[in-house]
Amino acid sequence: MRRWNGWGDEHVNYALPVSAMPFLLKELGLSKPSKDAHLAELAAAVPPSRLPDHPLVSTDQVDRVLHARGQSLPDWIALRSGYVSNFPDGVAYPATNVQVRELLEYAQRAEARVIPYGGGTSVVGHVNVLPGVAPVLTVDLRRMNRLLDLDGVSQVATFGAGVLGPDLEAQLRAHGLTLGHYPQSFELSTLGGWIVTRSNGQQSLGYGRIEAMFAGGRLESPAGTMLLPAFPASAAGPDLREMVLGSEGRLGILTEASVRVRAVPEAEEFRAVFFPDFRSGQEAVREMMQARVPLSMLRLSSEVETETTLALAGHERLVRLLKGWLRLRGVGGNRSMLIIGLTGSEASVSLGRQQALDLAGNHGGVDVGRLLGNEWRKSRFRTPYLRNTLWEAGYALDTLETATHWSDIPRMVGVMEETLRTGLHDIGERVLVFSHLSHTYPSGSNVYTTYLYRIPADGDPEETLRRWHVLKTAASEAIVAAGGTITHQHGIGTDHRSYLPDEKGALGMEALRTSYKRFDPSGIMNPGKLIE
Ligand SMILES: Cc1cc2nc3c(=O)[nH]c(=O)nc-3n(C[C@H](O)[C@H](O)[C@H](O)COP(=O)(O)OP(=O)(O)OC[C@H]3O[C@@H](n4cnc5c(N)ncnc54)[C@H](O)[C@@H]3O)c2cc1C
Repeated sequence: MRRWNGWGDEHVNYALPVSAMPFLLKELGLSKPSKDAHLAELAAAVPPSRLPDHPLVSTDQVDRVLHARGQSLPDWIALRSGYVSNFPDGVAYPATNVQVRELLEYAQRAEARVIPYGGGTSVVGHVNVLPGVAPVLTVDLRRMNRLLDLDGVSQVATFGAGVLGPDLEAQLRAHGLTLGHYPQSFELSTLGGWIVTRSNGQQSLGYGRIEAMFAGGRLESPAGTMLLPAFPASAAGPDLREMVLGSEGRLGILTEASVRVRAVPEAEEFRAVFFPDFRSGQEAVREMMQARVPLSMLRLSSEVETETTLALAGHERLVRLLKGWLRLRGVGGNRSMLIIGLTGSEASVSLGRQQALDLAGNHGGVDVGRLLGNEWRKSRFRTPYLRNTLWEAGYALDTLETATHWSDIPRMVGVMEETLRTGLHDIGERVLVFSHLSHTYPSGSNVYTTYLYRIPADGDPEETLRRWHVLKTAASEAIVAAGGTITHQHGIGTDHRSYLPDEKGALGMEALRTSYKRFDPSGIMNPGKLIE
């Protein structure tokens, strides 16, 4: 069963290793858990639905709580404390395109707003119910989860857009195929959600971004149905898939999606290399990208992230031995860890390994083999569970991300980290901040920054939220001022909305508004998200 106020399956826990508590005490100070609200109490406080009855619409209070918020830190604060003020008036679980159309027509008649809902893993407020007089219908696509068509010769598969990551991969693996899209939220996020938020998988370096995988599909909008035929390529004017990518539920509901798949790779390995510092690691990674080394993943951790990863890994004795050995090889206290993913044929894995290790060696990189790489692979979808454990120990965790050119990466990392680290100094609170580069390109990289701070001693949710707001605003403004995109992979939702005009310009914003109006003349689709 899925946790209603945290991450993942409620039977899965990620206990903090013994070495973690002294580390957190040193970095942030002692904290204590705050009191959680109960689902039944919150459900009892849900107001009566404003929607007329419909056989496809559930107005059950628990259903409405479970669809009220996503997975951002403000969502966690609201759900954990029970301070949720807006709920959908109803939740529908359509199983066919016909039912989706019926629901859109019903919503128009009822003058309701519609929020498409995939896995609810948004971290920027995409699925949240905003205050307003109109009733709100959340359309959860979980029943549209089947493999509908497979052209094995052309390697194109069509799925119901509500399919979850593990179900999608299982249906493909039965045919010896894979999509290879593995966001960290893989376990709970959906194909449709990935497409409309422009999500990025951990191995995007090898498999490509979702934009490259999305070949076509079916969009049900209030103005009608838009079919996007899947061609290998086309020069027939502007590509309408680009309108759907990143549309965040504003255009309509993506009910089916065709994706380009491939054979399950013959070989795969993950290994770790340690550099004397983050800067030399950045140089090596840039050179690997610009030399087009055949890799499926690069994840380079800053000095603090490397230290934090080793502290949270447990295995104290092994880590001590590793550090001692690295010191002898010239890699000391400022070490920066790179996880390298190699995926493909035996020959391409071997070639990639050799080229990557040669380039790493030129920058003082020391290969430590596959042990830490295998650890990373094993816990790649488990790490988000740590957020539950940290919260329960009294620490709030959030992440921020951007992308910029290589020439600006060191400055961007510095600006983001310094802004967050000093963000709560006025109240005497420390913030633990660390970064990594995990989606790299020949011209630049994303910067992914994690920050942790203490939940106030009395557990006051308003103060926890205020702290988040101070940090998030300062860091977002710093990203935009430093010339980075407001988001590399999480999308806009509500939390990044005010920064979008900086990136698109006045004419660009107007073009988006005008085209959305053509698909959704009365503005019922997910209003308040992406654009005003
Ligand atoms: C722990 C954690 C780790 C994460 N890791 C990553 C990561 O590695 N990479 C990454 O890119 N993101 C990551 N995310 C963010 C999130 O998982 C992605 O944005 C994901 O694509 C959202 O998919 P979803 O199915 O959960 O969509 P939802 O959260 O349900 O919805 C997101 C938006 O898409 C719309 N939508 C959903 N389905 C449809 C549809 N079929 N038709 C029309 N609109 C639709 C919704 O209305 C909403 O606006 C992470 C989130 C968490 C909590």
